Amino acid sequence: MKKGYQVAIVGSGPSALFAALTLMKVGVRDIAIFEKGKDIQERKRGRGMELLCGWGGAGAFSDGKLTLSTKVGGFLNDFIPQTELTNLLKKADETYLSFGAPKKIHGQSSDKTEALYQEAKLAGLEFIPMEIRHLGTENCAPLLEEIRGAMRDNVDIFFETPVKEILVDGGKITGVLLQNGSRAEAQYVICGPGRVGAEWIKKEVERLGIPSVPSPVDIGLRVEAPASILLKLTDIAYEAKFIYYSKTFDDRVRTFCMNPYGEVVTETIDEIVTVNGHSYAKRKTENTNFAILVSSTFTEPFKDPIGYGRYIARLANLLGNGVIIQRLGDLLDGRRSTPERINRCITQPTLPSATPGDLSFVLPYRHLKSIIEMLEVLDRITPGIYSRHTLLYGVEVKFYTNRLKLSPTLETDIQNFFLIGDGAGITRGLIQASISGMIAANEILRRMGKQIKGKGGNYYV
Ligand SMILES: Cc1cc2nc3c(=O)[nH]c(=O)nc-3n(C[C@H](O)[C@H](O)[C@H](O)COP(=O)(O)OP(=O)(O)OC[C@H]3O[C@@H](n4cnc5c(N)ncnc54)[C@H](O)[C@@H]3O)c2cc1C
Repeated sequence: MKKGYQVAIVGSGPSALFAALTLMKVGVRDIAIFEKGKDIQERKRGRGMELLCGWGGAGAFSDGKLTLSTKVGGFLNDFIPQTELTNLLKKADETYLSFGAPKKIHGQSSDKTEALYQEAKLAGLEFIPMEIRHLGTENCAPLLEEIRGAMRDNVDIFFETPVKEILVDGGKITGVLLQNGSRAEAQYVICGPGRVGAEWIKKEVERLGIPSVPSPVDIGLRVEAPASILLKLTDIAYEAKFIYYSKTFDDRVRTFCMNPYGEVVTETIDEIVTVNGHSYAKRKTENTNFAILVSSTFTEPFKDPIGYGRYIARLANLLGNGVIIQRLGDLLDGRRSTPERINRCITQPTLPSATPGDLSFVLPYRHLKSIIEMLEVLDRITPGIYSRHTLLYGVEVKFYTNRLKLSPTLETDIQNFFLIGDGAGITRGLIQASISGMIAANEILRRMGKQIKGKGGNYYV
């Protein structure tokens, strides 16, 4: 390892990779990437932390749904104007295409989309139409290998090299301290630690005195039903996003990550097993799954929404030895699901290792009630979803890092220290994470005097 770099990047998730690609575009080569996980070929899906850590980050084994809308997947419109965000989204999409993303776009607007929008309104739901480019789980790794190939001779990449500390002197970044004791000096540090690095970065920013506010925590269940029941939605929207405000609690409840003909999977973070879902571009199951998540924002004096989410996930692990599965009918009738009841269920689980149990022992009343209410309302536009045979898996938790106080170019109060992606609490998906890396890199290029100025202001590379 060299003693110093112009730019040190922490992590190799989409946020970090797009930061590096942007810098490389105009010839910056003095870049180091420090990644605590392994290289893409050495990563194995389903092996605990390896699922989330390593080249490509959490996105590597994801379903690779690129949501081509600025309205979902993060809060970058709080930082940059809508027109710039749209412009960057287009550029990020072009970059994914250049590394082999399929050309086909799902969910393009049509009369059917408009009709669904109106129908949802009548039912009390907000439908968010959006276009999606679907990489498919099996195409993510090859795409990431292409990106890896583009960086091979240009960027120094260090795997299994966790960053321990961010080094600062006199309010200015000086580099990073690695877990192995070495120091890498850097003029600029871009940190994209993802959700998996949320706890680490929370402690680091506290130590460095960077102000932050707790993000909401999203807790809920993964719902699985025969694909035919959701066909109407998945045909029109592919990834059907609905928002509902619960009658009883006025909580924001939303559908998330819909996987037509997909499968339910487990996800392990720090030994806590939660549930998630994905679908392959070619391999199909008989079911479609999606999450229903309830957002909770805590106020004084509680400041640890991540701790709260973990606590609930741990409870499911304690009772179910992992993920719990329950038929909606059993939940509504106040009884646990048993292996026999699951066997009799018309919907057969795609995650057979889940333990049949009772989710009412796990989720607070507030969450369970809101989820049941939303399923009831969804039934008006997708008859059959509020069926006894609908399967519920728990729990699905989305931990978001405290939202940090960042400038419009995603710089912290520490000069030349940028925080990007899901770990900064500002994005929640591949596209916005990628864009956040582009924003930080563009600012660095501007400071290096390498950014091209367009008519009427900055022009993002
Ligand atoms: C199963 C699954 C399916 C998903 N499906 C989709 C989808 O279809 N569409 C979509 O838009 N989004 C999806 N997502 C979300 C998406 O993957 C994330 O939003 C995105 O990867 C965030 O990018 P990031 O760069 O911020 O962080 P990450 O991708 O989480 O990458 C962070 C990287 O930083 C490394 N790291 C952390 N701390 C350190 C440290 N101290 N030192 C060195 N390295 C460190 C980690 O090992 C990791 O590799 C999915 C996520 C999962 C888990």
